[in-house]
Amino acid sequence: MAEGGDQLIHLDLGDPAFPTPSHIVEAAYRALKAGQTHYTESRGLREFREAVAWSEKRLGLEVDPDREVLATLGASMGIYLAFLACLGRGDEVVVPSPCWFVYPQSIRLAGGRCVYVNVGDELRLTEAEEALKQAISRKTRMIVVNTPHNPTGAVLNVEDLKLVRDLALDHDLMVLSDEIYKYITYDSASHTCIAKMPDMREKTILVNSLSKTYAMAGWRIGYVIAPKQIIDTMERLQTFIAACPPAFAQAAAVEALRGSQKCVEELVQKCDQARKIALNLLKELENVRCPEPRGAFYLFPDLSNLGWESTPLTQALREKAKVSTMPGVMFGPGGEYHIRISYAAPAEQVREGVKRIVSFLKSLQKTS
Ligand code: PMP
Repeated sequence: MAEGGDQLIHLDLGDPAFPTPSHIVEAAYRALKAGQTHYTESRGLREFREAVAWSEKRLGLEVDPDREVLATLGASMGIYLAFLACLGRGDEVVVPSPCWFVYPQSIRLAGGRCVYVNVGDELRLTEAEEALKQAISRKTRMIVVNTPHNPTGAVLNVEDLKLVRDLALDHDLMVLSDEIYKYITYDSASHTCIAKMPDMREKTILVNSLSKTYAMAGWRIGYVIAPKQIIDTMERLQTFIAACPPAFAQAAAVEALRGSQKCVEELVQKCDQARKIALNLLKELENVRCPEPRGAFYLFPDLSNLGWESTPLTQALREKAKVSTMPGVMFGPGGEYHIRISYAAPAEQVREGVKRIVSFLKSLQKTS
């Protein structure tokens, strides 16, 4: 459609529509000019792993850069390697849903089985305690938590995470904690790291990346923090799959992590501004519930009153209203009859895109 000259507004992908901050780009130039164009250690450059440990220490987590950190090709590779390292054929992973659509596919690729638990679009795990317990079987090896959350923008509270901790300790499960949005929270919300809870360091695989926080999705650089044995296995697997993340991207990531964090504040401010604009516009719709996101940069309105399934609805939005969003059905049980709107974009783009969505949905409400 874009090639045909249509002015399609993209509120679809989770890729901040802002340039990577210039001090990070400069660091990549310097690295390339200095010849950082070769393989690195498969664990990642030591400077990168030290920068990861340094940035985690500021948040109160002590990490050994030599034994507990692995540089990966984005969080995506970290997630896949974690499942490959921990799952045998037919092993099960409990995944609260709705959820980011890559978890179930990565679990399958690793030979495991995804066991969804529908926890609703406000992600109150404590309210789904019984369902979570029932989902655990003799074959369960892991449970996934993602906070702040894609696609709902929910931030798990301490009680929710305590429940996950209890389940992990009672049933000897590993927790895959996807913290890629941990710096992107709004108002009084703040991120809680499950690995900091008592006895959880040995039970947690933390995945993170620079894609969102520093608008670096195309650089493919992320990291995993996990117990030594798991990092060793994941490192071997990464060697066979990808050798290592690009050297210059690792060097630029050192600058991102250690340099001024003003760019992160600015990104969060821009997202917050867009979030408020989008929420206000969506309020014009009657009978549409949209949980207020407390983190990440997505809205996940419940459009079940319209009676349209999410795939034809997002198709109609794209073709008729010229705005691209993601169908909720992609995000697992509990996702259908929702659409995901990504608002990590300039305020005017978000305003125009959400206006188009609202006026199209109003026209559907009139005809239904
Ligand atoms: N986890 C979550 C929850 C995400 O939303 C994304 C990107 N959409 C990723 C991981 C993967 O990010 P990347 O591979 O770019 O680091």
